[in-house]
Amino acid sequence: MLAARLPSILPALLPRELLEVSMIASVNGTLANGQLSDRRPFRSPHHSASMAAMVGGGIRARPGEVSLSHRGILFLDEFPEFSPAVLDSLRQPIESGECVIARANHRVTYPARFQLIAAMNPCRCGMSGEPGHSCARGPRCAADYQARVSGPLLDRIDLRVDVPAVSAADLLRPAASGETSATVRQRVEAARAVQGERAERLGLPPGTTNAQLPTHLVESVTRPDAAGGRLLAEAAERMRFSARAFHRILKVARTLADLAGAETVGRSHVGEAIGFRAAPERLQGAA
Ligand SMILES: [Zn+2]
Repeated sequence: MLAARLPSILPALLPRELLEVSMIASVNGTLANGQLSDRRPFRSPHHSASMAAMVGGGIRARPGEVSLSHRGILFLDEFPEFSPAVLDSLRQPIESGECVIARANHRVTYPARFQLIAAMNPCRCGMSGEPGHSCARGPRCAADYQARVSGPLLDRIDLRVDVPAVSAADLLRPAASGETSATVRQRVEAARAVQGERAERLGLPPGTTNAQLPTHLVESVTRPDAAGGRLLAEAAERMRFSARAFHRILKVARTLADLAGAETVGRSHVGEAIGFRAAPERLQGAA
């Protein structure tokens, strides 16, 4: 439910992005009555999806889910249930923002810059780590299940959040008066505007987000203050981050600072970014 709501807090598509999204829908034959919407796409393919359905292909080299969710959300529920080959095929578009379909005598390239949201249970029976539960298959239940998601793919996931089961008592409690999507969206739009202006000063295309910063600019744009830098160096040593993870933490920290309206990336932003990357307790041992 949370994943499906995500488009409602994202900024509207820019005109250039809207054109890209429409072109993909048109190639796919799904541009409904020629009507355009500035809402970001949300796709949630079933875990039985084939490689062709996910990354594109078939006789007419149709775009796959990674392209149909371009500039929007690709939501994969029951993440470890997808075939390992399909999951591994996501790595290239996640890195490059595009998807190449090779045919016998030519190749087709579609844009594929999506936000990946994945949901998984800690084990196959879904109960590992719940108080008072022990899996029939023992600790292997969680270890085998989590091993279906490869380390390199997991390394590309920046925010990892443990979501405990909702109890009947939770449902009976009066709803908390939280923020509306519209309020959150204003905050996201403000942070994106800051990122857009910064990107433009660096000569990058309008709408470039922190996630899309080219590697050679990451360290100068996201450089934390002295205390933040020390915290990151310590954590990198202790948690043995890959070079990719190191850059990704810096980008997340820059975004947290942008959301807070802070000019400089501080210790608290770095700490929060590291906390998001650290695997939740129930998913330890996955990588
Ligand atoms: Zn289990």
